[in-house]
Amino acid sequence: MHIRVNDTVEILTGDERGTRGKVLSVDRTAGKLIVEGVNRVYKHVRRSQRNPQGGRLSKEMPIQISNVLLVCPACSARTRSGSRYAADGSKERYCKKCSKAIGGPISPPRTAYAKKSN
Ligand SMILES: [Zn+2]
Repeated sequence: MHIRVNDTVEILTGDERGTRGKVLSVDRTAGKLIVEGVNRVYKHVRRSQRNPQGGRLSKEMPIQISNVLLVCPACSARTRSGSRYAADGSKERYCKKCSKAIGGPISPPRTAYAKKSN
């Protein structure tokens, strides 16, 4: 799984193809994620004690992870990401287009993979 919470993704399929949004949550086992403002459903609620106004509640539903592509924060193109070891031996994701790192490290630094400094 290459997409993490707070990433920006672009929707590739369906009515909302081409829209971009922030990832709110990722369900790794189901392979689904929730994107802000995408696949919104409205639930009509009757007036009640808890909700004295009633009305419509909107909620985002999960979408399949294969229907989105990561948007690189550096070159703002939709891209695939790779992973590689950074100079301190931690793992990072990178953009396959501009090869800049995306987000922070995805694993703690490990000296075995650190570049030797001499
Ligand atoms: Zn990029």
